[in-house]
Amino acid sequence: MTDAAQYSPDEERAIREAARRGEKPACPRCGVILTPRDIGGGSFGLGYARRREWLICPSCHRSVLFDRKRGTRN
Ligand SMILES: [Zn+2]
Repeated sequence: MTDAAQYSPDEERAIREAARRGEKPACPRCGVILTPRDIGGGSFGLGYARRREWLICPSCHRSVLFDRKRGTRN
């Protein structure tokens, strides 16, 4: 336990899946709703196909960064 606190891969995956379903994921450790942050490429509203989102637990400050992709065909 030398690094900053992080979620385990399983926890991260559960959070990503919940976010992908349009839910507001909660921290699996604290049970509080994670705070979303949009990370644009400097400014937003430019219609990028890919958006990055950062979810931070306000309690333990663990965070998950992920790409939110738009649905593609096929
Ligand atoms: Zn937490």
